[in-house]
Amino acid sequence: MPKALTITIDGPAAAGKSSAAMGLAQRLGYTYLDTGALYRAMAWKMIEDRVTIEDEAEVSLQCKNLNIKLSLIKDATEVKIDGFNATPHLRRPEVSKAASRISSYAAVRKKLLNIQRAIGENGGVVAEGRDMGTVVFPKADLKFYLDAQIETRGNRRYQDLVQAGEKTDPIATIETIAERDRQDQERVHAPLKPAADAICIDSTFLSEKEVVEKMFQEAIQARARS
Ligand code: C5P
Repeated sequence: MPKALTITIDGPAAAGKSSAAMGLAQRLGYTYLDTGALYRAMAWKMIEDRVTIEDEAEVSLQCKNLNIKLSLIKDATEVKIDGFNATPHLRRPEVSKAASRISSYAAVRKKLLNIQRAIGENGGVVAEGRDMGTVVFPKADLKFYLDAQIETRGNRRYQDLVQAGEKTDPIATIETIAERDRQDQERVHAPLKPAADAICIDSTFLSEKEVVEKMFQEAIQARARS
């Protein structure tokens, strides 16, 4: 039996991590883990409970006793918080913004660390996020860092938002994701950066299918080596 690998994909917003992770997991018969969904669900809960997102002490206190349940289904990571399904609300722009803010708080990251590790512990997982290869799974068998030019990423996110019926414009979308990347890269705890041993892929001129194919070939080689 070939070893069930732990594979990580990190990178900035709208670099194509989710579709790459989903596609790769499908090709390998692995589980797909969207860790952004956890941060988004936590942010959604804080918004619902009218907690001031900028108030680190309050957010840290409130998130401490939350009961978080993850269900990994084929193409999605479903998150329930205290019994409420947060999943339908996760892609809202205000949730994205709040998620980036609260993910800089140590208590929030600590709360979510073991949940993520428990899923990756036996391998057979493709986990995507911002600190998968650097903090959550530093010993992963295969690590990717997926990036693309900011205009390309902004345009991709804009198309997603339009499809979801959100009112926005392309320039504002680029500015919003650039700001989110800046926060993610500059934070003290688990900042977004490529792991030293990550394979970097620029998806600016690649289709989703090409990205998955590249990753799949690397996974086959890594499996043969392990
Ligand atoms: O990946 P996604 O856009 O859903 O992530 C939302 C936010 O959650 C990111 O901007 C980032 O601030 C945070 N996040 C994180 N670490 C992860 C995954 C997401 O800090 N592993």
